[in-house]
Amino acid sequence: MIEELKKHNIEPAIEWAQSNQKALEGIESDLIFVLYQQKFINEVATKGKEEAIKFARTNFPKFFPKYAPELQRLMGSLLYDKVPENPRYSDLYDTDQWEKVAAHVVHDACKIHNITPQSALSQVVGAGTLALPKFLKYHTLSAHNGNDWNSYEELPVATDLGKDYQFHSIFVCPVTKEISTLDNPPMLLNCGHVISEHALKKILSGNRTRFKCPYCPAEISSSSSKRLFLN
Ligand SMILES: [Zn+2]
Repeated sequence: MIEELKKHNIEPAIEWAQSNQKALEGIESDLIFVLYQQKFINEVATKGKEEAIKFARTNFPKFFPKYAPELQRLMGSLLYDKVPENPRYSDLYDTDQWEKVAAHVVHDACKIHNITPQSALSQVVGAGTLALPKFLKYHTLSAHNGNDWNSYEELPVATDLGKDYQFHSIFVCPVTKEISTLDNPPMLLNCGHVISEHALKKILSGNRTRFKCPYCPAEISSSSSKRLFLN
């Protein structure tokens, strides 16, 4: 698919995006629009404006109104002679655009399969760069209070790296602070709160069958808690 894109054949990428439409919507991807936009640009460059207008009439209404400004710009570009050479729209009609579209496909395909499109090293450097200001601030504060944060087993502050650095859902038990595993899965209590199985067993030690939720006043019966599956 990527090889075909580099040869300016967009069809395999469009087919792939359509068959993965649900997953792409799940990551708020605009890939399908980007591919149709590129196909339109290719129609103008290879077949001329008339064919491009026919293509737009058939394919663009479904992208309205979400992509109205982009569609207006695309259609506006047709008002000029020699569209691909017009400097006002050169970013759209530049052949580099194919590389960018291919990179966009790789990025979104990796994202829906929860893998990184970058090398592990650049991923680590990128995450470190984003987190550094927070760590520096914390380091200054803890030094001021006489604490050595190198002695902590886990980071004392949560650092949100944004969606691009999220790959898997994990559950950290609010009671034991352990990350859930197959041997220690998250358990849903009937009040809606979730704790790990280890925490639940600890609370239930001594053959108790009812207990108070650690996070709300609800009384829970041990038989009503259910295993929770995270994908
Ligand atoms: Zn609760």
